[in-house]
Amino acid sequence: MYLLKCGASKNSIIPPSDIGDMYIAGYSTMMAPKIKGVHNAIYTRAMVISDGEKKISLVSVECIGLLADFIDKVKERLLAYDYQPKNVYIFSTHTHAGPDTMGLWGPLIGKSGINKKYSIFLIDTIVSVVLEAERELKEVDLFLSKSILEKQIENYRSEKDINGDIKILRFITNRTLVASLWSYSAQPEITTRENVEISGDYPGLISEMIEKEYGGISLFALGLCGSQSPIYCEKGYEKMETFAKEIFIEIQKIFQKGKKIEDTQIEIREEKVHLKVNNPDFQLLFNIGIFERDMNDYTIVSTISKIRIGNLHIIHIPGEPFPGLFSEIIEENKDKEIMFVSLSNDALGYFIPLEQFKLKTKEWADKINNEKFIGHELESIGSEAAEIIRKTVKNLFVYKKIMAIAAHADDLTIWAGGTLKKLTSEGNKLICVRITDDYADCVGITAEKAIKNNKKEVERAYKVLGAEEIIHLNYPTDTLAGADYLELRGKLVYLMRKYKPDLVISFDLNGTDEENMDHITTARAVNEACWQSSFDLFYPEHFKEGLEIHTVGERYLFARNPTVVNFNVDITDYIDDKIKAVCEQKTVMKNFFFQNKLLARANRLYIELLEEDVPIAIKVNLLAKLVYGEIGQKFGAKYGEIFNRIGAGFLEDIA
Ligand SMILES: [Zn+2]
Repeated sequence: MYLLKCGASKNSIIPPSDIGDMYIAGYSTMMAPKIKGVHNAIYTRAMVISDGEKKISLVSVECIGLLADFIDKVKERLLAYDYQPKNVYIFSTHTHAGPDTMGLWGPLIGKSGINKKYSIFLIDTIVSVVLEAERELKEVDLFLSKSILEKQIENYRSEKDINGDIKILRFITNRTLVASLWSYSAQPEITTRENVEISGDYPGLISEMIEKEYGGISLFALGLCGSQSPIYCEKGYEKMETFAKEIFIEIQKIFQKGKKIEDTQIEIREEKVHLKVNNPDFQLLFNIGIFERDMNDYTIVSTISKIRIGNLHIIHIPGEPFPGLFSEIIEENKDKEIMFVSLSNDALGYFIPLEQFKLKTKEWADKINNEKFIGHELESIGSEAAEIIRKTVKNLFVYKKIMAIAAHADDLTIWAGGTLKKLTSEGNKLICVRITDDYADCVGITAEKAIKNNKKEVERAYKVLGAEEIIHLNYPTDTLAGADYLELRGKLVYLMRKYKPDLVISFDLNGTDEENMDHITTARAVNEACWQSSFDLFYPEHFKEGLEIHTVGERYLFARNPTVVNFNVDITDYIDDKIKAVCEQKTVMKNFFFQNKLLARANRLYIELLEEDVPIAIKVNLLAKLVYGEIGQKFGAKYGEIFNRIGAGFLEDIA
């Protein structure tokens, strides 16, 4: 049972009067007009949501867009307040009447429109609004309402792809609205090209209308906005008010009618994407430093994230996707409620589906110089990005069934604990198989007592890692080398056919210096079982029970001294869970440190940490951070685990 809490806050981000020149961002790039006044106020609004375990922060900013290098500065500041980078989502409403926050709307060609003092002001304001929201945390119920309003939108690239979804999340405590998050997919571009006043456009007006009528703080998330314009595009302030009223009438109809989301555990999945910049205009912007970004060979690294609360999936996209990009994914996941948030944690322009992309890469230069080609393509980083985004979002909806198999109680926590916790936190299902009974892994107690303690403790540890089911095969410890191998392998084949894991995590045969025959036998039996489970002549007695052949897709294999390492997992967010799981295994750990003390003494070494009077929790904490810190460092993570990943092998090259 997860207790959902929410707090929210907002603050004005109108540039202070003494801040110097600022330019209106949205229309004529590189020759934008100076800001001369304020039509209606712009804000940054934040909500902090917690399920008791995870705390996330959603921030909407009424501006054109924010690049990841800016957002990283905010995240860095929030680290001090226990916000992990992946738990902070900052998205722009994309108003075409706010100050330049990207640099593209300077006074003349080649000059950034960013006012550095304003950037500092904006970072300070966002951080303070997030912290204020956290102070307001209250227990809430979450409701989702939705409707469709297509006739207010024009999609002049593809009429069949219009997305008119209105989705509203409401966080309510004692009948009082703490916060709402609403989304719609029309570009906020109703102000004119001549406009010199600040405005949040229609989303700003509607958020204020919601706050006035229903209370709370109302964040706007721009949905699948690429190529979708309001019917009053660039028609000016009067039409902006009309548009806002028309949308608000629809919002009023559904606002209090939503259904409650009962399962309130927050799950976060994210994937990094490497996106190639083919657009020579964008390449130039990076070259002359208008965009500040570390990159190799014009490849940008950005992030796509999915937050799941119950059946609600909130997808964060680092640019402006065309609605057609996700039609198939929406169709495949009809049973889920999906909310898309564009321009979240980055602003990389339009993501245009390949079938709608009209410009071939080699034509870029010609089109731009000679034919005055006008199109979304010129405001996209290139033709390849959208397909990578599509594939990544698709992947974020796929959940794996994982079977982790080890000989002893502590094998999985020690070699793969962070990875297992990460996988279960992302919604994957974990089944743990422990082959032996660990009767000898103790010091100073009887075998019976050791079996009892170790079983109890390993179950607690695997629960910390998020295991749904734990299977004990109860072979006597350190006897597997002499056990009936074919029978052991058959038991594993049986479990694979029964549970049908997509991913198996276990020992790697490629490790060196392995002195434990239980580990070696487990590695052999597991890896053989992985392919034997899909042969219909092996262990045919399983089929009489109604089981079917099963093929394991992937394996992550670990070893004491691995010789093949091709898969790194950043476990920084999960090191504490890993340590907690290891610490649950007191009986095994007591023996582990005792044996190491004996080994140290035999080598005439005195290590204070190994002495009995140092509590096990301290020993584990220090040792784990040292060992997994060193492993992580090798690939740029604070803490890491490493594996030999086996997938489809040569088939992956052919594919
Ligand atoms: Zn072991």
